[in-house]
Amino acid sequence: MRVDVITIFPDFFAPLELSLIGKARATGVLDLSVHDLRTWTSDVHRTVDDTPYGGGPGMVMRPEPWGQALDAVGDGTLVVPSPVGKPFTQADAHELATLDHLIFACGRYEGIDQRVIDDAASRMPVREISLGDYVLFGGEVAVIVIMEAVTRLLPGVLGNASSLDEESHAAGLLEAPMYTKPASWRDHDVPDILRSGDHGRIARWRRDQSLLRTAARRPDMMAAYPPASLDKADRKT
Ligand code: SAM
Repeated sequence: MRVDVITIFPDFFAPLELSLIGKARATGVLDLSVHDLRTWTSDVHRTVDDTPYGGGPGMVMRPEPWGQALDAVGDGTLVVPSPVGKPFTQADAHELATLDHLIFACGRYEGIDQRVIDDAASRMPVREISLGDYVLFGGEVAVIVIMEAVTRLLPGVLGNASSLDEESHAAGLLEAPMYTKPASWRDHDVPDILRSGDHGRIARWRRDQSLLRTAARRPDMMAAYPPASLDKADRKT
């Protein structure tokens, strides 16, 4: 997958050299380039912002550097992190992971001049994505979050891809609690069933815990869970 990130803070993306994203880049699964938006300014101050038409506080990112930057990286799917975007979900991560070329536009100040998004939308798909109902300083952190969620879905990135099938949000439920050694720690014991070696009962326990957790913590997810996906034992839980 090719990814171009356009930002006024390229240094924000240093963490993308680390861990499994760094490995995906090293092995060529991910071809990531980070571009400084100020490369496409023409004044001595390398200005990227100006006051908003109609008045009001703050500054807005000017369209000219953005237009040139997007022309330079070519067409793909443009992802614009924004508090006015569609809330990001695991389903979106799966969809983005199927694409060949993602372009991320990191807004700052009061955001990017709307014409940049409208102009790009006339020649490529544009996705405005929100991380949640709150406001960040800029799009950089949002891009790192989206990149983490997408990269771990790319073939060959996770050592054991089957872990993707059982984790939270894979099938509309939250994951059951997980434990490792030691069996007892500070008077807290690992549930006996997980040490029983009975794989059928362990699977049932995990499924029950997953349903109970989802119902308690995310009633919205439980309500959206398709009744046809519940088996007889689920219904008792
Ligand atoms: N004036 C904008 C508004 O009220 O909708 C907020 C601009 S915010 C201070 C600057 C940039 O941070 C945005 O252009 C976007 O790139 C990013 N950002 C802020 N909150 C975000 C969120 N919840 N999800 C994704 N990106 C966000």
